[in-house]
Amino acid sequence: MNKVQNFSAGPAILPQSAINASIEALQNFAGTGMSLIEVSHRSKEYEAVVAEAVQLVKDILKLEDKYEVIFLQGGASLQFDMIPMNFLSPEKTAAYVNTGVWASRAIKEAKMFGEVNVLASSEDKNFNYIPKDYAIPADAAYYHCTSNNTIYGTEMFAFPNSPVPMICDMSSDIFSKPIDANQFDMIYAGAQKNMGPAGTTLVIIKKSFLEKANAKVPTMLNYKIHVDNGSMYNTPSVFAIFVCMHTLRWIKEIGLEGMEVRNKEKADLLYNEIDRNSLFVGTVVAEDRSRMNVNFVLSDPNLEEAFLKFCKERNLSGLKGHRSVGGLRASLYNALELESVKALVNAMQDFEKEHKQSTLNS
Ligand SMILES: *Cc1c(COP(=O)(O)O)cnc(C)c1O
Repeated sequence: MNKVQNFSAGPAILPQSAINASIEALQNFAGTGMSLIEVSHRSKEYEAVVAEAVQLVKDILKLEDKYEVIFLQGGASLQFDMIPMNFLSPEKTAAYVNTGVWASRAIKEAKMFGEVNVLASSEDKNFNYIPKDYAIPADAAYYHCTSNNTIYGTEMFAFPNSPVPMICDMSSDIFSKPIDANQFDMIYAGAQKNMGPAGTTLVIIKKSFLEKANAKVPTMLNYKIHVDNGSMYNTPSVFAIFVCMHTLRWIKEIGLEGMEVRNKEKADLLYNEIDRNSLFVGTVVAEDRSRMNVNFVLSDPNLEEAFLKFCKERNLSGLKGHRSVGGLRASLYNALELESVKALVNAMQDFEKEHKQSTLNS
């Protein structure tokens, strides 16, 4: 089988070491003689997996002792509800920035629980930039932002100095570069982009913020319950957390500084080609271009289908843009190797040559 270059936006490429460890554990988990998916989540072997995953998150992000780390279910999307259920109420206002589909969904859910103040939005330009000039009101219950806009390909490279608790959806760029994690009161991320398979969501929450949570929240949606039970109030997503643990081991080995170098090299290579190649145009304002999701279009939209077919023949997979925006999108998550981006750039160059040839002949 020829190697497939996997540019999928999510679920997405994972490190081979995590895949191999998963295959082994599906046969025989930690010497138990049983498969990972048939052992008790309360076995000491599995409790060690969750404990290590939590510790790795703390180590990689250099989290201070004042944070709790839990793994929940329901995807990042359930966080859109859990956050306002726990931290908003009809007499309070929460501040949100609208930078795309996911941010819009977070806003929509929050409105069911209290007042929402949308401080800024990039919807006027089809979300192709990150709004920067806005003030965060000092009386907001919290401020919510999305660090990487998976569908539109914009990324926040700096965060505001928030006077209120800052919450960030980092689903698609977590662990991709060094950040000052200790400036956030809460960080969350669905696993299936940069951390593991679908089925679990990482939530990092500051203890002092957790103390402000509403008391009357249904049990399964109550952060405090999950924290008090170490992600084991009910059966956790056993397999997904296991794969996250192995991916986190791989991330820790490279380190966030090393990860940023890798990711920058991949993104620069692709953006340079988009800018050089006469057939392609980038869709995002240069300073906000995401290193994780690279959005671009063909200068002649009629060539899009032919290019996607050209890529498919070369085993380049997952390049079609999100159904809501169209065009092309190459996701370059942590586990994607530079070699994959080189293969895509080669395809773009060959397509350009072929196309120039055919316009000369016609
Ligand atoms: C994919 C994604 C989501 C939704 O994640 P689910 O786990 O499918 O609910 C939310 N936010 C961002 C930034 C995403 O990329």
